[in-house]
Amino acid sequence: MAKAKYTTHHGMVDILPDETPTWRALENIIHEEAAKFNFEEIRTPIMEQTELIKRGIGQLTDIVTKEIFAFTKGDSNYVLRPELTAPVVRSYVENHLDQRGGSQKLYYIGPMFRAERPQKGRQRQFQQFGVEIIGSDNPVADVECIAFMMRIYQRIGIKNFTLKLNSVGDPESREAYKTVLREYLQPNFDKLSELSQKRLETNPMRILDSKEKEDQEFIKNAPVIGDYLNDESKTHFELVCEMLQSLDIEYTLDPLLVRGMDYYTRTAFELTSPDLGSQDALAGGGRYDLLVEEIGGKPTPAVGFAAGMERLFIACEELNISLADPKKVDVFIVSLGDKARKWALKTLPKLRESGISATMDYLDRSMRAQMKDANRENASFTIIVGDNELEEGTFTLRNMKESDESKLSLDEIIKTLSN
Ligand code: AMP
Repeated sequence: MAKAKYTTHHGMVDILPDETPTWRALENIIHEEAAKFNFEEIRTPIMEQTELIKRGIGQLTDIVTKEIFAFTKGDSNYVLRPELTAPVVRSYVENHLDQRGGSQKLYYIGPMFRAERPQKGRQRQFQQFGVEIIGSDNPVADVECIAFMMRIYQRIGIKNFTLKLNSVGDPESREAYKTVLREYLQPNFDKLSELSQKRLETNPMRILDSKEKEDQEFIKNAPVIGDYLNDESKTHFELVCEMLQSLDIEYTLDPLLVRGMDYYTRTAFELTSPDLGSQDALAGGGRYDLLVEEIGGKPTPAVGFAAGMERLFIACEELNISLADPKKVDVFIVSLGDKARKWALKTLPKLRESGISATMDYLDRSMRAQMKDANRENASFTIIVGDNELEEGTFTLRNMKESDESKLSLDEIIKTLSN
């Protein structure tokens, strides 16, 4: 095939007609399960103010330093949203959602944008679903959030994964830990990667998240935050663990798990799958008790997660799980001649009004070609109509699977198909 003159941008893909049913099936599962958990959907704009993203995610994060698509128009700075926690919190503050009372249990589905190097499971436009529970610091909120995430994979039949869990502490614990970590890393400052050198002063915990080769040896032997949690953070984390156990949700403690954004406090978690190759994270999240205030709201604890939908599909493919039924249409009207085509066009709405999905040939083709089309469209029935049928007022209804035919009036056809 000739190469197209115009193509999508690198790392951005079309979701084609053969694939949209699978996407819709997943979206339906998410909406259904969210309703069972009493989560409410939120939809925010694709673009946000650059300052919000920088402030919310952290100036020195990979996302902000390397991956945001940002541009200026007039006096405004725009950024294509790289994630949805900061935008949802912005919306929570801007729209005073706290005044609705209780904790806000929000979920979303939508595209995110990061200028990363594309590879399998890593795109520049990708789709996430996620949850943000804003207004509770009770470990129940952490556990409900994780339980919802697990429920989606469980319902789909993806079981081969690891839930990694850690606590990154509250501000007091983090300060104590950061001091120890800095003291541990400082003597080897020259051997650290450039980015880690930068982070040593501002946010040494993010060094633990580094993928740079030169950092690995120091990360491996670093002191762990678990040893520096104050009583409050420790108790909170123990309760999260206990509650997960009470729900039979298995997890692995990972003392080095810090995650990519600056806003996490206390609970941090990640769901990884061996079916995904090098980009093995299905989903990740945690508590971000400081973010609402950081963005200009009242101090408000919150917890959430985000999951990559393309990666979920990769796992499905590996496991031979198909989410969508093959495409089909109830009726294909095979029409021969001008009069028959006009009749077909007027009959379509009658069928559709009766809840029957229906289509016809748009290309004035032969009976044989139309039958072939009906098969390709996976039509359950065809109605065959030509001049004779119009004169008689009865039409051939063909059951495509069983290859049997009967001559019926339109009313009888609609009655038969409605059953
Ligand atoms: P994050 O917002 O970085 O915690 O990512 C949450 C989830 O989104 C990850 O676990 C992945 O499943 C997915 N994800 C993140 N970045 C990408 C990307 N560039 N392409 C595809 N999926 C991604």
